[in-house]
Amino acid sequence: MAPSASASGGDPFPHQVIFMRCPRCNEERSSVIDSRADGGAIRRRRECQSCEYRFTTYERVELSLPVVVKKDGRREAFDRNKVRTGIARACEKRPVSAQTVDSLVDQIEYRVSEMCVREVSSREIGEHIISALREVDEIAYVRFASVYREFSEVGQFVDTLLALGAMGALQKQK
Ligand SMILES: [Zn+2]
Repeated sequence: MAPSASASGGDPFPHQVIFMRCPRCNEERSSVIDSRADGGAIRRRRECQSCEYRFTTYERVELSLPVVVKKDGRREAFDRNKVRTGIARACEKRPVSAQTVDSLVDQIEYRVSEMCVREVSSREIGEHIISALREVDEIAYVRFASVYREFSEVGQFVDTLLALGAMGALQKQK
């Protein structure tokens, strides 16, 4: 990796290039056969288009995350484990895989970093989680929204409906 001739500014690594070349034959083209979130990284299983050798790459994105301002005004660092706990709790006993929960956490983290602000309220993070859950599972979404927006009766109402197996009937009425 030769240093770029056009490098300017104080950053010693302005453009770090990740080579995805096949470790066996050096071919540049590879197809992605599987891709999943693994901690904060994306793990990709690749297959060389020339010799069909399979190898794995890890891509980590450096995100700059804002400070979270809580309801009472206290500040704390953005914590993806807290996001995960909230999402996992809403998805309890729902057909949502651990992999999906992980990708939701990544999605929230990305959306928050994309806001490019120094501070974000915990309420805004909650709204991001609500809209992400809505895409994945209706029940998990209502559960999270009801706990988050403090409409606890709504969550209990949904749980009762679930217990009665009446959700299907309710969905048909829409
Ligand atoms: Zn190859």
